[in-house]
Amino acid sequence: MSDVEAWVREFARSVVAEAPRLTELDSAIGDADHGANLSRGLTAVVAALEDSSFPDDGALLKKVGMVLVSTVGGASGPLYGTFFLRAAGSIGDGFPAAFRAGVDGVAARGKAAPGDKTMLDTLVPAAEALAAGKDWAAVVDAADAGRDATIPLVARKGRASYLGERSAGHLDPGATSAALLVTAAAVTLG
Ligand code: ADP
Ligand code: MG
Ligand code: MG
Repeated sequence: MSDVEAWVREFARSVVAEAPRLTELDSAIGDADHGANLSRGLTAVVAALEDSSFPDDGALLKKVGMVLVSTVGGASGPLYGTFFLRAAGSIGDGFPAAFRAGVDGVAARGKAAPGDKTMLDTLVPAAEALAAGKDWAAVVDAADAGRDATIPLVARKGRASYLGERSAGHLDPGATSAALLVTAAAVTLG
């Protein structure tokens, strides 16, 4: 198994393990389905990895993205799907480049930026730490700090934005699942 496949599988494992927590976070400022959405999608991803073999990591990541887009109904499915589809096209240039391409894809697809209280608050600092050549511990710290910084923010994108000021004071569910993606990378690629 390639390191990239191990990364995806570790992300799937941690999302399934943390699904109740992700759904609890989404119950506060969303519709209480983030854990269920991602568990369904990543369980389908693992099944697809079992069923097929791939010529390279680009083909594998493309499959991951397609499965997420087609199995997750919520906002997070197309966004994580876009992350993996865009990462697929750049994995030949190395993990930091692929991660950056994925994050840029999420930002373009969701028309969001850091500070909007979304997964980008985690993903952008992690991409910047990777681009700066930081070690994995620092990359994880950047991601976790970005996640935690969503607590006081007022959401400007997604369902949480419907709550206006009442979205402040809660951790963003997508920023929390995105931190699992970064930790999974540190565990498997570090
Ligand atoms: P839904 O909101 O459709 O129920 P989920 O609960 O699975 O979907 O995912 C919610 C998460 O998606 C949010 O916590 C947020 O991090 C992320 N999100 C929502 N809209 C956007 C967006 N436009 N750009 C980036 N991330 C977003
Ligand atoms: Mg939701
Ligand atoms: Mg939903």
